[in-house]
Amino acid sequence: MAGGQNKRFKQFTRGLYAAALYVPEGGYQWRDDLVPAPEEQSRADRGPWLVERTPASEPRPAMMSAPLKDESNRGDPGLHRTFARLDSSPDSIRSFAEKHGRVATAHLLQDADGTVYWGSSLREWLRERDTLEALVRIWDHVRNRDTPALEPFITWETKPNRVLLGCAPGLLPGGLVGDIFQTSEIVDQWVVGDVIRPFRFFISQAINERMKGSVSPALLPFTGNDIYMDIYMVPDSLLASLYVLFALEVGGHQRAPINCKYCKREFIPLTKRKEFCSDSCRVRYNEKGGPKNGR
Ligand SMILES: [Zn+2]
Repeated sequence: MAGGQNKRFKQFTRGLYAAALYVPEGGYQWRDDLVPAPEEQSRADRGPWLVERTPASEPRPAMMSAPLKDESNRGDPGLHRTFARLDSSPDSIRSFAEKHGRVATAHLLQDADGTVYWGSSLREWLRERDTLEALVRIWDHVRNRDTPALEPFITWETKPNRVLLGCAPGLLPGGLVGDIFQTSEIVDQWVVGDVIRPFRFFISQAINERMKGSVSPALLPFTGNDIYMDIYMVPDSLLASLYVLFALEVGGHQRAPINCKYCKREFIPLTKRKEFCSDSCRVRYNEKGGPKNGR
């Protein structure tokens, strides 16, 4: 019945947004012995590769992940922050992938026998993580109006007014080259020397760019009543879903981040009562009787 389908589908939605993505049941593994398949040579990268365990030519049973599901379905409103602070260890990346799916673009890769697998390189994973991590960090500085943290990365020139956002190491990773804002209506609205507004603008541009072409409106036939159906904004990938969550945070549609009581890192709490960013922080706090490095 439509009603039951509707209800089930609601578990994949957050407000106007919906995402139902496939995660391979067979899981992922890291491999060094693969090379890009002939049709992928032009985009060749090098390993190690995080690939689906099941070859691409075999049936690959999948489960559905719902990166945008809301708090009423125990969704993580801060999944973009969870990914942004993922450590670089292959194990952490693999367990994130096995739970939520892949973030980096997938390629066809083949082993010495010519068996092909879907996968992405460690470098590709880290590039996406570093980009999101840098953007979240910049956003945190903007949100906290932390001028001193941003000041080293911006240069104002006058006559004509011009703003250069630095691609200084430590702030913007490669591929996130700093913007130059020339004299324009936007720059003229800013006070010369202002740091917050140019970076606020930069954040909007960066997130918009990553949603553009990857989040589209779609009519969903298994919603609505027998004839009419609902229209949702649908991201085409986990990466696009993470940027939707980030955009919802920047748009003020999420609970504000708070500091984890144990590790002190900022996270978006699932409920008002949540105090820890993760179960492991809650356990460690209770074992050690206090915050990390604290009394
Ligand atoms: Zn924590």
